[in-house]
Amino acid sequence: MQSLWDDGESAQCESELELRVYSSRLLGRDKTLVLHGGGNTSVKLVQKNLFGEDENVLYIKGSGWDLETIEAAGFAPVQLDYLQRLAQLDALSDTQMVNELASHMLRTSAPAPSVETILHACLPYKFVDHTHADAVLAITNAPDGERRVRELYRDAVVIIPYVMPGFDLARLCASEYPRQAGANTVGMVLMNHGIFSFGDSARQSYERMIALVGRAEDYLKEQRAWDIPARAVAPARIDMLQQAQLRRKLSDAAGVAMIMATHADAETLAFARREDVGTLSQQGPVTPDHIIRTKRMPMLGTDVDAYTRGYKAYFDQHAPQAKESKTMLDPAPRMVLDPKFGLAAAGRTAKDAAIVAELYRHSMQVMQRAQALGGYRALPQRELFEVEYWDLEQAKLRKGGTPPPYTGEVALVTGAASGIGKACVEALLARGAAVVGLDINPAIEALYQRKDFLGLRCDLTGEHALGQALERAVIAYGGVDMLVLNAGIFAASRRISELATEEWRKVMAINLDANLFLLRACHPLLKLAPKGGRVVVIGSKNVPAPGPGAAAYSASKAALNQLARVAALEWGADGIRINSLHPNAVFDTGIWTEEVLAQRAKHYGLSVEAYKTNNVLKTEVRSRDVAELAAEMCGPLFAKTTAAQVPVDGGNERVI
Ligand SMILES: [Zn+2]
Repeated sequence: MQSLWDDGESAQCESELELRVYSSRLLGRDKTLVLHGGGNTSVKLVQKNLFGEDENVLYIKGSGWDLETIEAAGFAPVQLDYLQRLAQLDALSDTQMVNELASHMLRTSAPAPSVETILHACLPYKFVDHTHADAVLAITNAPDGERRVRELYRDAVVIIPYVMPGFDLARLCASEYPRQAGANTVGMVLMNHGIFSFGDSARQSYERMIALVGRAEDYLKEQRAWDIPARAVAPARIDMLQQAQLRRKLSDAAGVAMIMATHADAETLAFARREDVGTLSQQGPVTPDHIIRTKRMPMLGTDVDAYTRGYKAYFDQHAPQAKESKTMLDPAPRMVLDPKFGLAAAGRTAKDAAIVAELYRHSMQVMQRAQALGGYRALPQRELFEVEYWDLEQAKLRKGGTPPPYTGEVALVTGAASGIGKACVEALLARGAAVVGLDINPAIEALYQRKDFLGLRCDLTGEHALGQALERAVIAYGGVDMLVLNAGIFAASRRISELATEEWRKVMAINLDANLFLLRACHPLLKLAPKGGRVVVIGSKNVPAPGPGAAAYSASKAALNQLARVAALEWGADGIRINSLHPNAVFDTGIWTEEVLAQRAKHYGLSVEAYKTNNVLKTEVRSRDVAELAAEMCGPLFAKTTAAQVPVDGGNERVI
C-alpha cells in the first residue's frame, strides 16, 4: 500500500482544514480503504468567535459527503468541549445524540455531522482518520481475529470489540483508549468494522493509516491469504429473457421498479461457482455499514419467493427484541449469485445498483481472504439487524424526498445522438429513467458519462445488431420498459416520377422495417416491464398531411403509424400502451443549419423568424417540446390511453 501524499499538492493547501480535505481525498481515492460515503475524518481546530475568544472546534465529515470528492463545506464544525462532555454521559439515545450534534454546530448550513462524531472528539489527536479497509476486515472477520490483530500490531493499536456505531461505541472508545494506549499507539482497530489512525498533522495521520493497512496486507500475504487463486471459468450463460424475468420478480418483491445489472466476469463467476459459496456468501456483510445498501446476504440462485420468505422470518425473529417498533423494509434481494451469470446487483437507480456491485466485489475478496485464514465469520444476525433497522441508517436512505417518476425504469431511444432523440434521452433521464440510446453515429457512445446512460452504436436495419444491443441493455439495466421509436431519415425532395427504387427501399428500411424488428424484439421485454410497457412513436405531420416530393418519407411514416395502431390492438392485453406524436417543422436539429433555414425562408418569401413560426399558434416547435410530450406519454397522464396520435406542430391548418 503506497502513500499518495504529494508535497507539491499539499503545499497548495492554505489552512489545516484544507489539508484535512486533501488527505481525506487521498483516502477516498483508494477503494480498498473506503467505498461510497464509507469512512470519516476529522480535524480539531482553535477558532476565534465573534467576541474574539478562542473556541475548540471539531471539523467532522458530514453525512452525505464522499471522502473522494469532499470539500471544506462537507465538514461540519461542532463545539469540541461539548462533545467531550457528552462522551461522559451514561446514556444518550440516537434521537438525543442527533439533536445535540445538530444544536452544537457553528454553521447552520453545515451537513449533519457523522454518527461517529463523539468518537472522533474523544481521541486526543488533532487529525483522526477512519476507514473500513478491506485488508483489516479480512483479518478481523477471520477466526481468532482479535488474537491475529494483536499479534500483527502489538502495541501500535488499541483494540475495540464490536459495538454498533453511535453513542455506545464512542463511550466504549472513550474509556478503552486511555486504558490501552501507550507510547507507540498510532491507531485503533474496531473488530468487524474498520480501523482508525491519528496524528498531529494531516500527513502523519494519513501515512499511519497507509502503514497500518499495509501491514495488514503483508500479514495476509505471509499467511498465504492474499492472492485469490484464479480459476479457469467456463463463460457465462446469460439468457436475456431470464434476466428480465428475474428483474421483474425483484421489482415485484420490492414493490417498486428496480434496475438490475448483471456482472458476468471471471471474478464473479468464479465466486458464484465456489463449492463453499453457500456458506461463504450467506453469513453477512464484511462491515455492517454495507447492509443498508446490500441487505444481509445475496440470493443464491433465482428463487425470489424463497428469499423474501427468509427475509420475513429474519425480520420476525429480531424485530420483537428491538427497542422501538420497526416497520419491515422491502424483502427483495439486492444481489443475486448464480453459477450461470455470476453476480446481478439491484438498486432503485443505476447508480445504486453500481454501488451494490462495487461493495460486493470488495466483499468477495475480503470473504475469500478471511476464508483462506481459516473461515470467514460475519457478525451475528442480531447485530446486523440492529444496524439494518437503525433509525440513523434509515435516515441516510430516506434523504432525497420523492424520487422522480421513472426511477427504476429503463427506456430505449433510437436515433439518440442528436435532435429530437437526444432531447428524448434528456427528458427521460430527468424523470429518473435509465436510458439506452441507439444511433448509427459513434458519438452516441460518449454522449453522457453517467451510470444511467448507455450509448450503443447500432445500425437499426441489422436484425442481429439490434438483438445484440437489446442484450447489452438487459445486462446493463435488466430490461426495457419504454421504447421511443425516433430514428428516421428524410431524403432529398423528389417527385415520384424521379424516385429511384433504391432510395425508396432505403427510406423504408430505416423508417419502417427497423421499427418492426425493434418492436418485435422488444415485445417480450415490454411485457415484463414492472409498471407496464410503453412505446412512443415519433411520427410526422406528413402522416395526416403529406406533401409533394416526400413520397417515400410520407409513405414510410404512414405505414409506421398503421403498424403502431395494430401493435396497440395486439399488445393491449399485455399492458403495453403505444402512442404516437406528429411533430412538424422542428428546426433545432442537425439537418437545419442557419444557411439552409435562410434559403428555405427566402423560398417562401418569409423572414427566418416567420418561417419558423409559420403555424396557427405562431410559435416555434423545438426538439425539447417534442421530447417532453414523448416522455409524458410514458407517464400517468397517458395511463389510460393507447393508439393516440397527438400533433405537436403549433397547429397546422391542413391537419386541423
Ligand atoms: Zn465506520
